[in-house]
Amino acid sequence: MKKQLEIEAPAKINLTLKVLGKRADGYHELESIMQQISLRDKIILERGGQAIKIKSNSHMIPEDEENLAYKAAQLLYTKFSIKEGLRIYIEKNIPIGAGLAGGSTDAAAVMIGINDLHNLGLGKNELMEIGLNIGSDVPFCIMGGIALAKGRGEVLTALNKGLQLEMLLVKPDYQLSTGAVYREFKRERVNQSPDNKAFIEAWLKYDIIGLTQHMQNDLETVSIKMCPDIKIIKNKLNALGAIKSLMSGSGPSVIGVFASYEEAREAWERIKGQYKETYLISSYN
Ligand code: ATP
Repeated sequence: MKKQLEIEAPAKINLTLKVLGKRADGYHELESIMQQISLRDKIILERGGQAIKIKSNSHMIPEDEENLAYKAAQLLYTKFSIKEGLRIYIEKNIPIGAGLAGGSTDAAAVMIGINDLHNLGLGKNELMEIGLNIGSDVPFCIMGGIALAKGRGEVLTALNKGLQLEMLLVKPDYQLSTGAVYREFKRERVNQSPDNKAFIEAWLKYDIIGLTQHMQNDLETVSIKMCPDIKIIKNKLNALGAIKSLMSGSGPSVIGVFASYEEAREAWERIKGQYKETYLISSYN
């Protein structure tokens, strides 16, 4: 059996996010196109010791049982009665509380890694089902690529690899709580909700103009009220030549889609002095 393993944990963005009604279990019913991006954490797992221990280069995430990576490990260790300990190192590159599923992707990577380290023999679907106990975004982070997500985000239909999207991601110096954004959300106040069917048609035709026209996020208005910088960044990205700019998830990260890597890079050169956290990213399949 292997002793140590390194796994990539890519962030996710929402290219569309439609929020339908609140369900009896308290979750909102969603319809969203989710895409993994090249911005990623690195997870190193090493078997040994007596307990599950977390360490990270970031001081902004918990290093105890509150960490989603810890929860994911504990879930599998209990389920499979694994007695040996595990050291988890998280190299954090994904901004925290940014709407990029940073915690969920670490949890997903830890589950994939433990499955391998301990030869548990779990298939992707089984891992995704177990991962849902950790969080709504964990199944997508295990599946990867690009998908239409329904339900609370766990009913997934993979889309074929299409265009490589070249983007710029800007995170304002502000953290938004996903729960707080959803509590403020009112369906009837949404003006322009995404048409996921039209997005997928454009995606399948490699039609970048068509698909960017259908990039919408129902939560944007609410999050802009809490963090007006989102709107300011959107306007800046548009002025710098983005075909489309959109907030990801519940925010506050904003992505700008550009026609080429060169254009995204040029925009990055111009905006990086104004915001500490700016990233040149592309879709990750
Ligand atoms: P989502 O888009 O799924 O709502 P997010 O990107 O907005 O997630 P995260 O970066 O996942 O937010 O962090 C949200 C909270 O989760 C933070 O308050 C953080 O302390 C906690 N957390 C626990 N484990 C982790 C982890 N491994 N990485 C990042 N945050 C973590």
